[in-house]
Amino acid sequence: SKTSDKLSTFLESGIYRFENSNVVFIDPVRMLNRSYTRFRFSPSAYYSRFFDSKETIETSNSKKRKRKEKKVPHDLNEREQAATLRHQQVRPMLLKAHEFLMEATDLLAIMKGLRGDSNICSSTESSEHHSFIELGKVWQAPLYEIILKAAWKGLERVVPVFNNLVVNEASDDMEAEFLNKKYILPRESCFYMSDLGQIHNLIHECNAGFNLIVIDPPWENGSARQKLRYPTLPNWYFLSLPIKQLAHPDGALVALWMTNREKLHNFVQKELFPSWGLSHEATYYWLKVKADGSLISDLDLFHHRPYECLLLGYFHGQGTNSKQPPRLRPIKHDQIIISIPGEYSRKPPIGELLLEHVTHFKPARCIELFAREMTAGWTSWGNEPLHFQEELVAVDI
Ligand code: SAM
Repeated sequence: SKTSDKLSTFLESGIYRFENSNVVFIDPVRMLNRSYTRFRFSPSAYYSRFFDSKETIETSNSKKRKRKEKKVPHDLNEREQAATLRHQQVRPMLLKAHEFLMEATDLLAIMKGLRGDSNICSSTESSEHHSFIELGKVWQAPLYEIILKAAWKGLERVVPVFNNLVVNEASDDMEAEFLNKKYILPRESCFYMSDLGQIHNLIHECNAGFNLIVIDPPWENGSARQKLRYPTLPNWYFLSLPIKQLAHPDGALVALWMTNREKLHNFVQKELFPSWGLSHEATYYWLKVKADGSLISDLDLFHHRPYECLLLGYFHGQGTNSKQPPRLRPIKHDQIIISIPGEYSRKPPIGELLLEHVTHFKPARCIELFAREMTAGWTSWGNEPLHFQEELVAVDI
């Protein structure tokens, strides 16, 4: 039947499309794991946040918060009014999307089991991650090396880990060792680990020409500063990101993750996209739910929206060899992507969904900026692109 087809597609791909709608539910773990053959991310590690009982307590807290927020009588300033209006405009669409999910009982049943089901032999002891951000700053940084191990034992390559393009050109997972920890590099992928100040070197080393560019900048933001998981940068730093140089001269799709601050929306629309040479094409919304399908917070909580935006822009390019660049197809609809969030500020893997809009270029060249992980076939740049590559564990075959 149709439903069981959709479910088996989901189990295979991690993508569940709601019919006749612009809504998809995704399982990041299934999607990420398609980058690997002999290793897997464990669902229990990825999903620890929204399966732990702690979160149930937070729900009741957020209800209290809501009551409090509503009680406080205060006039909205101009910016708050604009933010409220923006929210009111997407609200019906998000509610509709959530309804689709709550009606998909077959999918909800699988969601409850997402954390448990895995064929992983043993999980890694969750020891401390290396702080690449700190290591990259010390004077010894240029001396740090990573050991790349070929599939057959004995063949090893030792290369600098910072400010260097590290490539796995093989069509299989590659094990690597850095300061006694093991990292897995997916097939046909590479990373360049550096500070923003060195990003220009990446353009020369990897031949640029990217057709898809995903960016998740370290925006300044109350909660990021509080929790201090990574350093943030003032908005004007991002104006100098070399998007035009990274993009393919025939055009590229650029996807930018945003926070919900109204000031940021204005900056991106009025300054950032124009300075990168992008036309705004569509907005995607990432709706965050818990394992039981409920939203992670009340939809109307002003400072804790259960969704984030992804702005899609086209770089139209000038074309090569005096040929006209191919016309990029307009993206018809805004889309809603529903998933259970992973660790703090970790974004769901949306590359595959975006590739549907870059059909002109085959195979498309893809890069993620400010990445904390790698993807098969992609280039990852940031000051810690190996961060999550340590969490992969060998599968029992
Ligand atoms: N998309 C990632 C994910 O899903 O895990 C999260 C990216 S996080 C919002 C931003 C990243 O930018 C962090 O890894 C942070 O360390 C990095 N970053 C901050 N300042 C940087 C700088 N000056 N140069 C390079 N990367 C930087």
